[in-house]
Amino acid sequence: MTVAAGAATVLPAGRLLSAPGDSPPGADLRAVKLSGAETTIERATVRDLRASLSGTLLAPGDDGYESARHVWNGMIDKHPALIVRCTTTADVVHAVTFARERELLLAVRGGGHSFPGYSTCDGGLVIDLSPLRTVDVRADSRTVRAAGGAWGAHVDAATQKYALATPLGQISNTGVAGLTLGGGFGWLSRRFALACDNLISVELVTADGKVRHVSEHDEPDLFWAIRGGGGNFGVATSFEYRLHPLDPTVIAGRVVFPTAQIKDVIEFYATLITHAPRELSVDLGLATEDDETPGAHLNVVYYGDPKSAGKVLEPLQHFGKPLLNTIKPQSYVVVQTWFDPPPVDPTHHYLKGGFVSEYSSGLIDALTEFQPDKQTEIYFQTANGAVADVPQTATAFSHRNAIANMMLLCEWKERSQDEPGRAAARATWSKVVPFTDGYYVNLSDADPKGTDSNYGPNFRRLAELKKRYDPQNLFRLNANIKPA
Ligand SMILES: Cc1cc2nc3c(=O)[nH]c(=O)nc-3n(C[C@H](O)[C@H](O)[C@H](O)COP(=O)(O)OP(=O)(O)OC[C@H]3O[C@@H](n4cnc5c(N)ncnc54)[C@H](O)[C@@H]3O)c2cc1C
Repeated sequence: MTVAAGAATVLPAGRLLSAPGDSPPGADLRAVKLSGAETTIERATVRDLRASLSGTLLAPGDDGYESARHVWNGMIDKHPALIVRCTTTADVVHAVTFARERELLLAVRGGGHSFPGYSTCDGGLVIDLSPLRTVDVRADSRTVRAAGGAWGAHVDAATQKYALATPLGQISNTGVAGLTLGGGFGWLSRRFALACDNLISVELVTADGKVRHVSEHDEPDLFWAIRGGGGNFGVATSFEYRLHPLDPTVIAGRVVFPTAQIKDVIEFYATLITHAPRELSVDLGLATEDDETPGAHLNVVYYGDPKSAGKVLEPLQHFGKPLLNTIKPQSYVVVQTWFDPPPVDPTHHYLKGGFVSEYSSGLIDALTEFQPDKQTEIYFQTANGAVADVPQTATAFSHRNAIANMMLLCEWKERSQDEPGRAAARATWSKVVPFTDGYYVNLSDADPKGTDSNYGPNFRRLAELKKRYDPQNLFRLNANIKPA
């Protein structure tokens, strides 16, 4: 139960302080502080904030508030007290300062793709960067600068015009911001490492409201921390990445095997992805087809020399008895949309994830027993190759020895299924979690083990930097690193 301090009102769990209608028109806004206590924000103060912005300020009842409050995952249904839709870095500074001075609960939204819904909150202030999507390619210097609300699609479309690319995620409408700050795995990672490993600089608004240019040379401590430390250290308003040559046509597709071959497919995949050239990326999915037939899927993307494609893909073309093989030359930009969900998806999504460093017989046995259905699948996103070339303490991201990120992906349509769905997911996950070592901060919800052990040898430095740059823990809606 949530108890409204200083009032007789008792709000049932999940009932929202600032749900439209809670504050009569013209009244002060009811909001939530970092401590969880209720507060009010005077209308005059809200007017001042609105007047200071180039972008838009939305409060419950305002036109546009209802659509602006929704994030990607349909399971997340929150009502912020204020949403600042930023169009400039100055807007971000005003919003951060406003939240800090009033100790307001603060969420930061890039692409809105957080599974647990970290980019929104009940009763707090949301800094929404979605109006900031400019992408500027410098083909001569092979760099690209993307604004803090850009999606992978915006960056890929701009860079592929020059046959260049930087590794981003496998879904085109994921925000580059959250993805990069937590790491960033994609089809290009076996060859070019993580999105965060390709960062040259970031413009970051820290909790004190300062705008900082963060790079290897300027603010190197912060540059280290934001490459894997997630949104803990400030609001990133732009990202500058290194680009690599990438032909707009890659050879890619899906090979699907019946469940009877699952064990053989997993063993084949484990060997293949350990020894394959880095220009080949293959993910494994244990999932159902559209007609609900369960199977083992190998999702394949080859972006090396086309003359070597035949030889590199030969083992894949000759293995087992597939039900389907769609491997063919196709556009990289199209491959990036293969699994795209709607940007705001009414489906409820729930995910458990963990890194694996080997396909042990115990893991393979557990996977062989797993039965995918239309609500549940297991997916292995390949995480080896160039990712492991970067030393474990060179950036905050510490999971350099993983071979894959294993995910249990669950979905359903109705809110009434949330609890039973989550319970079923946890039961399934309990059978494979013993084979994981740490988790990807960009994907999992709060882990009982906490962020400390997950960051391994990097945790102490992260906690000290958090204390230096965000002692109040203003940026806490993330895989949170508590100030030392
Ligand atoms: C369908 C789907 C597919 C995915 N595929 C991949 C994949 O292929 N590879 C991969 O690595 N990950 C993948 N992810 C995970 C993804 O990296 C994370 O969900 C990531 O946080 C999304 O970033 P976002 O900006 O869209 O998220 P948001 O929901 O906007 O934010 C997520 C977190 O990042 C913080 N944040 C966002 N923007 C900023 C900013 N500008 N400055 C500071 N902090 C910020 C937020 O406060 C929040 O804590 C996928 C997620 C989904 C839902």
